[in-house]
Amino acid sequence: MSRAEVVCIGTELLLGDVLDTNSQFLAQQLALLGLDCFYTVTVGDNPERIKACMREALSRSDVLITSGGLGPTADDLTTECLAGLCGAPLEMDQDLLAFITGLFAARGFAMPESNKKQALRPRGADILPNPVGSAPGVVWRLSPENLAHAAIVAGNKVKTVLTFPGVPSELKAMWQGTAYDYLAKNYSASTIWSQELKHFGIGESALAEMFAHLLELSNPTVAPYAGRWECRLRVAAKAETQEAARALAQPVIDEIKAKSGVRCYGVDKDTLESTVGALLIEKGLTLATAESCTGGLVSERLTDIPGSSKYVMLNAVTYSDHSKQELLGVSAQLLQEFGAVSAQCAEAMAHGMRKLSECDLALSVTGIAGPEGGNADKPVGTVYIGLSAAGKDASGASAPLYFGRTLKLGARLPRAEVRWRTANEALNMVRLYLIDPLEFAREIAAQSQASPQMSQALPKYL
Ligand code: ATP
Ligand code: MG
Repeated sequence: MSRAEVVCIGTELLLGDVLDTNSQFLAQQLALLGLDCFYTVTVGDNPERIKACMREALSRSDVLITSGGLGPTADDLTTECLAGLCGAPLEMDQDLLAFITGLFAARGFAMPESNKKQALRPRGADILPNPVGSAPGVVWRLSPENLAHAAIVAGNKVKTVLTFPGVPSELKAMWQGTAYDYLAKNYSASTIWSQELKHFGIGESALAEMFAHLLELSNPTVAPYAGRWECRLRVAAKAETQEAARALAQPVIDEIKAKSGVRCYGVDKDTLESTVGALLIEKGLTLATAESCTGGLVSERLTDIPGSSKYVMLNAVTYSDHSKQELLGVSAQLLQEFGAVSAQCAEAMAHGMRKLSECDLALSVTGIAGPEGGNADKPVGTVYIGLSAAGKDASGASAPLYFGRTLKLGARLPRAEVRWRTANEALNMVRLYLIDPLEFAREIAAQSQASPQMSQALPKYL
């Protein structure tokens, strides 16, 4: 198995001024190629330290990929450091010089003297074309002399360096245009296929415990990751082809899905809102929302999904008491008796919205997002979620279903997190209801008894 190492060059990365997205992109691409990447190094614009990183990377890996420092300015040092390390003179590539001069001429400028530097390449290195910018990189199979000069013991291994500019769009274009194929041909013996199984309603450590026996596997590997109030299990398998790798991963994925049940809500790019959308389409149902403390976040997330107009009919942000009364028909007496942040208000909002929208389902949210507004009885982070659904009683007459949940999210949670988590819980309620209303009713009833933090009104008409 060949190894590759990424060295990102640029003091701006070390200072935290620029987020290193190139490492992320390259790491994902190397995984696709099935190349091991054990180190990603970031180094500032200092020639001695750059050379030391290059040398170390080439000592332990077959392929060195650099990002940054190919520009015309004095702090762009990558090419000269590489040439210096490997004892190769820098030569002016006349074709490249003509090309760069031409680029300036096409824009009506004379080329500044400093840009000539970008046409220099170490003797023995080939050009790695840059289809979108002025500075190409190099692809350089190091000779035994180069390796000896750098004091690198390579045995019979071929060591190659590929250099890229730091600008992400240029790096990607060069990678996709040339470098990927070059590495696939010369270094790749296998490829990685992976899938993320997204979970809601179970924490990272509980998930890791539940699948402890799988976390020890080596191919496929299974790893847990915490997300924003949700978590993921990533299953990755390595094989000669994507199909073979997928086949290795599939039994493990099936096992996780079977054991996780409804807690696994989707894979890869699926979100709670996209899953809700798919279920609404599958069942041919429509949805409306009435939000208070989330201020439209649930609506935004639902309508972010292309095609959501098929099932989202009406979303209202009813922030004031007045709007709750006028639009949703919440009674003044109810507001007076229980307050706008109450289980009773959530219920009235949900039923009111379903009536107004004539949808199959209506979701309501009311709570205290903070940081102010809480009290001992209802601290910040107290949220009531309601779901009203069309239903029938035993005689077939219309009898709405209602599910209510109370969340106590903790008074120290920042406002944005209270709102985000509330939206998650609200979307998840709709999701679970759509999967199996009876099971959903049983589960939330059981949860309310198990956890004093979470109580709910039992569904009234099931
Ligand atoms: P240029 O000709 O633009 O100077 P260069 O190869 O010299 O290209 P750098 O000067 O190192 O590249 O970086 C150019 C810009 O690219 C940086 O200012 C930064 O915004 C971005 N950049 C550099 N490295 C990275 C990285 N690892 N991840 C994301 N962006 C980066
Ligand atoms: Mg630069």
